[in-house]
Amino acid sequence: MPLALSFGDYLGCPILDKKSKKADFKTVLDKINSKLAGWKNKILPMVGRSTLIKSVNCTIPAYVMQNSMLPISVHKAIDKANRDFLWGSTAEARKIHAVGWEKVTKPTELGGLGIKTSLEANTVAMAKLNWRVNVEDRIWSRVLLSKYKHRSIAYNRPSPTWRGLTKGEHVYNSGTKVAIRSGINTSFWYLNWTGLGPLRSLISGPLLRDEANLTVREVWGITDWDLSKISFSLPFSILSHILLIQPQRLDPQSDITVWNSSPYGTFSSKSAWLLTRNFACTPPFDNWTWIWKIKANPRIRNFFWLAAQNRLKTKNLLFSRNISQNDLCEICNADSETTTHVLRDCHVAASVWEGVGIPNSALPFFLSPLPFWLKLNCETKILHQSGIPWRIVFPFTCWNIWLLRNKTLFQNEPHRARDHLNSTIASSIALAVEWNHIAIPALEPRKRITVLVKWCPPSTPSFKLNTDAWCMQKGAFTSHNRWLNPR
Ligand SMILES: [Zn+2]
Repeated sequence: MPLALSFGDYLGCPILDKKSKKADFKTVLDKINSKLAGWKNKILPMVGRSTLIKSVNCTIPAYVMQNSMLPISVHKAIDKANRDFLWGSTAEARKIHAVGWEKVTKPTELGGLGIKTSLEANTVAMAKLNWRVNVEDRIWSRVLLSKYKHRSIAYNRPSPTWRGLTKGEHVYNSGTKVAIRSGINTSFWYLNWTGLGPLRSLISGPLLRDEANLTVREVWGITDWDLSKISFSLPFSILSHILLIQPQRLDPQSDITVWNSSPYGTFSSKSAWLLTRNFACTPPFDNWTWIWKIKANPRIRNFFWLAAQNRLKTKNLLFSRNISQNDLCEICNADSETTTHVLRDCHVAASVWEGVGIPNSALPFFLSPLPFWLKLNCETKILHQSGIPWRIVFPFTCWNIWLLRNKTLFQNEPHRARDHLNSTIASSIALAVEWNHIAIPALEPRKRITVLVKWCPPSTPSFKLNTDAWCMQKGAFTSHNRWLNPR
């Protein structure tokens, strides 16, 4: 009989009898790599590649991430595969990664593309498992809690699931708080019921023995807080939070755990993700959300995401990374080829803008700094001379100027850029007109028409009987024992 080296998989997840290794998750990595091999990343635009990463690559390991923490080496391999695919790098040819992975993997509100790193996705899954174990009362969670809780890990050699739970615990703890109903089963000091975290972590110095065991209910008097049970004065910053909470003395219900930043108090993956890296995700998000609201297709929005960070592959960027000998614009040979120069200040770009026709109220057009210039023109309410909004003409014109630059450079004819001026101007306006007519009406919310419905009695001698479908087929008895046939 051959010797088995592992227990294999059960329902697609490896059965782990000891600490997990990279080899245990080979099938996950193989699945991701086989998907990547099938996609033609040379043909796909960057926005398509980022969508595939979010919708396919990030969901492949999500299944095994539900019940255990993958080894760091697997996380690194998944991130590397996604990163290389996003920027078009292969084993044979390495491409420029214009924006750092740290930035790419931020939420879109904070300037990223909304791709989670593999480790963060796994930590979110583990925080969710903590939520399920602690909040949903199931048999499997009771088994886990009774077997491992209150025992040291070293003593007990815990299961991979319990080890994973400990990795997501910090996110679970900072994402949850106890909603006080009666206050009977909530420790005053050691549970987060004020939203500030456990009060013990905010107070230094020892507590009296009786004081340490106080529940919220015991500190609540009959109609108000009875803080005489505490031997010292609480700081006002804590006191102001406590005074906002009013336990119900007559309410017998137990206190419940709620997820802080979700409207219904249930677990939210997005807010758990924000907690994994301590993102300060508070509105307003004016710095970045405007990009994803640009009135143009996703490809152009992605182009603006790069442009606003000065990360288009201009000569200036290539020079700063020692890929180009100089940073001179090859079209005019007069200035450094920065993003602002390509899209606005180069004489070819300026001629395109002149041909398209900048609205008078959009001036001074050529003086603003880059991110401000892009944002202002993508949000303005002024109209172009053709009657369509300038915020639609502007992004399509920027995009066409970039295409014109690339076309002439890749054909080694930068000096002939002016020959394509008229077609660039015409194409910019035509695309904006087309978008305005086709996409904008489809994006507008449908108008709701309210129809008031009221029960109306029938005209005599008819009767109206509101019943369920069964009666419609069979008929029904009235209170006078008359049989009614359905009409
Ligand atoms: Zn130039």
